[in-house]
Amino acid sequence: MSEQSPFGPATPTSTPQLFQTLIKMPLYGAFDLDGKTKPSEQVREVRISRTKFDDYCPRCEKHTTWTAVPLPDLEQRAITEKDRVAMAGAQTSSRPLSWMGDFVLRTACARNADHVANFYFHTKVVSSTPGAPLSFASSPFKYSIIKVGQFPSLTDFHLGDLSAFEEGMSKQQRREFVRATNTAAHGFNVAACVYYRRVFEGVLIEARDQYMVEKNMSDWPEFKSARTDERIRLLRDHLPKFMSEHPELYGILSLGVHELTEEQCEGELPILRKAIELIMSDKLMAARLKRDRDSVSKLVAQAVERHKR
Ligand SMILES: [Zn+2]
Repeated sequence: MSEQSPFGPATPTSTPQLFQTLIKMPLYGAFDLDGKTKPSEQVREVRISRTKFDDYCPRCEKHTTWTAVPLPDLEQRAITEKDRVAMAGAQTSSRPLSWMGDFVLRTACARNADHVANFYFHTKVVSSTPGAPLSFASSPFKYSIIKVGQFPSLTDFHLGDLSAFEEGMSKQQRREFVRATNTAAHGFNVAACVYYRRVFEGVLIEARDQYMVEKNMSDWPEFKSARTDERIRLLRDHLPKFMSEHPELYGILSLGVHELTEEQCEGELPILRKAIELIMSDKLMAARLKRDRDSVSKLVAQAVERHKR
């Protein structure tokens, strides 16, 4: 799994990069404009951008090319504004603040134009010098762009990062893994432990169900009455390898849910995430191996059939 931040390039240097940084930020994430370019111009360019980029489409459930779609009339407004500034001279402000405030960035899926994603933002002043003149050109104001909403959700988009795991993990397990990552990005580290523990429990219960089907069991009292670490030992030959080798992982996840502070959880999250990733990788490998074994077994049976005497 990639180590790159899921929130786009660290320091966007172009409008397409800024666009992607904004739409990939977590909810209530803030991006401070650097002040090198006039903030209203940066916001204007991003609002009228028609940038294209590749990302997952939650509705196609595939990767696609997304195109930014400026809201109606915004491009014409930008052209009119630039003409007005050109005619009146650079000294005349063309109400630059009007591009700030609340705004929407919209993108559409190349595969289906009805697959539209909307991202909502609010701009606010993050620093200013008291008593400074209110002329925008010489203003010391600095602006921050805050994401205040989006649909589809960030979790829906991030499911695409795990599309390679479709074969080994259920949608529910992938969704909970993504939620762990997203809640941690918001600083909710205990909540992230809850989601990682739910992935862990989901894998265990799934293995139990498969085992019971294989053994034609309608009930398994021994499993029911066992503690979680004992349950892992009971199913050790049917679980992802890393999980069987580390039944104590559940204890650490539970400690995170019930006893550790937010800060302590934050310290443990990278290793917990790695552990859950390894469990997911083991599951994926096992699913692929099973598929290969099943298909080659069928081919061998067909070959035997062809050469029967
Ligand atoms: Zn789509």
